Amino acid sequence: MRILVVEDEKRLAQNLQELLRREGYTVDVCYDGVSGLDNALSDIYDLMLLDVMLPGMDGFAVLEQLRSAGKHLPVLMLTARGELSDRVRGLDQGADYYLTKPFQMPELLACVRLLLRRSNGESGGDDSIRWGDLTLQPGTFQVCCAERSARLSRKEYDLLEMLMRNGGQILSKEQLLLKAWGYESNAEDNNVEVYISFLRRKLELVRSRVRIRTVRLAGYCLEEAE
Ligand code: CA
Repeated sequence: MRILVVEDEKRLAQNLQELLRREGYTVDVCYDGVSGLDNALSDIYDLMLLDVMLPGMDGFAVLEQLRSAGKHLPVLMLTARGELSDRVRGLDQGADYYLTKPFQMPELLACVRLLLRRSNGESGGDDSIRWGDLTLQPGTFQVCCAERSARLSRKEYDLLEMLMRNGGQILSKEQLLLKAWGYESNAEDNNVEVYISFLRRKLELVRSRVRIRTVRLAGYCLEEAE
C-alpha cells in the first residue's frame, strides 16, 4: 500500500510518515499543493492524506482538480479547527473523510485502514489480498499458499501486491518501478527484474501455482499454472 501525504507542516508530515511506515505502508511526502497534485495524478497511490491550507495550491483546489481528472483516489482531508466551514460541507463529498487537527494517531490509523478497506471493496476486518492460491497479508508482509508462507521484503511486497491487485493484467516495468520505488529514487528497470526474480523464488518456496510471466516489451503479469 502506498500513501501520499500532502502536508506543509514539516514536523507533522514527518510524524505521519514515520507512523504509517511503522504500520507497513510505503509513504511519500509532498510539502505543497502543486507537487501533491502532480503525484496524486500518477495512479501509484492507494490513499492520499491532504492538508487544507497549503502553499501554492490549497487542499480544496487539489481535490477539485484530482476529481475533475476522473481520479477516484481515496482522500482523507486534514483540516484545522475552524477551517471545517460551510465550504468544506459544500464540497460535494469530493473527499472521502475529514479529520480535524489535532487528531490522535490511533484515530488517524483507523481512518486510513477504513478508507483502504473501503476502496478495495473488502468488508470486515480482513485486509488480506488474494489471487489464485496466494494470500498476501499487509500487516506482516507474509505471502501464503495453503499452509506454507514466506516473508517478503518491502519491495517484494509492493511489487507482488500491485500484481495481485491487477489480477492477470500486464503491468509495465515503469509502473512497477514507480509503485515500489517512487519518483524520488535512482532505481532503474533492472531493479524491477532483480526483485521479480526474488519474488519468483518465494512463490516457488511456498509451492504456489501462480507464476510471474514476463511479457516481452510489455512487462509482467500473473498467471496460474495448470
Ligand atoms: Ca497547512
